[in-house]
Amino acid sequence: MNIHEYQAKEIFKKYNVPTPNGYIAFSEEEAVQNAQKLGGNIWVVKAQIHAGGRGLGGGVKLARSLAEVRTLASEILGMTLVTHQTGSAGKLVHKVYIEEGVDIADELYLGIALDRAKEMPVIIASREGGMEIEKVAHTSPDKIIKIAIDPFIGFQPYHGRELAFGLGLAKEEMSSFIQFASNLYKAYIEKDAELIEINPLVKTKSGNFVALDGKIGFDDNALFRHPEIEAMRDLTEENLAEREASQHGLSYVKLDGNVGCMVNGAGLAMGTMDTINHLGGTPANFLDVGGSANAQTVATGFKIILKDHNVKSIFVNIFGGIVRCDRIANGILEATKLVNVDVPVIVRLDGTNAVEAAEILKNANIKNIIIATDLNDGAKKAVAAANGDIL
Ligand code: ADP
Ligand code: MG
Repeated sequence: MNIHEYQAKEIFKKYNVPTPNGYIAFSEEEAVQNAQKLGGNIWVVKAQIHAGGRGLGGGVKLARSLAEVRTLASEILGMTLVTHQTGSAGKLVHKVYIEEGVDIADELYLGIALDRAKEMPVIIASREGGMEIEKVAHTSPDKIIKIAIDPFIGFQPYHGRELAFGLGLAKEEMSSFIQFASNLYKAYIEKDAELIEINPLVKTKSGNFVALDGKIGFDDNALFRHPEIEAMRDLTEENLAEREASQHGLSYVKLDGNVGCMVNGAGLAMGTMDTINHLGGTPANFLDVGGSANAQTVATGFKIILKDHNVKSIFVNIFGGIVRCDRIANGILEATKLVNVDVPVIVRLDGTNAVEAAEILKNANIKNIIIATDLNDGAKKAVAAANGDIL
């Protein structure tokens, strides 16, 4: 689960990771009030969406008067912000963060991510903050410092010194930087984060380190331990179909292709998607209906898959182990009564009672239900149907 910059900064503050003061605003009126509350004479108006690259997309702007705060807030609120992370559709801005303007002397990068190969959190730092770190990593990997932290040892001052030396910091900057990194690591561990990114981490003209931006992604499997983080969830930022699926206990991930997939078990779902790709098709989604495929879950699965208008055929690929194929076949027939399925549905049922299942589907004689004999046959038919071939 991801949160907004302003929420990440609330967490930073709790862990004594310095960040500029700011307030969230839902209207231009509130934006001006926030600027007044902050005082000073330079503010930054920042679009709050779950994507980076807002600055380049026109979603982060400097204001030098209250009147300018109002104008910028009214421009940014309600805009569809397109950045390199949103895709061309962009994201609608519902709220802006009004923050005090900071005198920037230098922009660095500091992040913590989970290195699955090393099985440890890795602190990543670079002098080249403020721009896309992916580009730096690509063109000049020597400018990126990476230090793995053994979670049983935790962050130690020597880790901090190694980072500080790598960043070329001056002696008098060391201790405040080490404290900064140490506090950030504590937040990462205690909040069960998967990723924390501060880009840029700035050195101010008065010599302080401040998190000017903040991104945190959390481990969904640990959310039950953090109701305060679950409460930060912003549903407007999430894919509605994925959300609805998870409420029904289905794992669904939308993709860009046109062959809808309904499968039981994550491994079979992956295998199904691979086979579709292999045969020249493109899956429209990953969908695991779980172990208890019945009329209701199948109907919900159809409903969710068909919300995506790119879907031109649906491949139902279910292995009947504990759940018997004849029951699933009846479930599919029932589901087609509950949901109007207007694309060809290719059904491959294998395992317990597969023969009876094929019989049930054949006898039902529904025009757009096509029976497949095996995975390859099913995938081939689904790809052909998606391409408009008559089966
Ligand atoms: P994004 O990464 O989505 O573009 P940032 O929060 O990193 O958004 O902001 C983009 C740029 O705007 C920063 O690199 C920085 O130069 C400037 N900026 C952001 N917040 C402030 C601030 N409070 N004071 C001064 N400049 C800021
Ligand atoms: Mg940034």
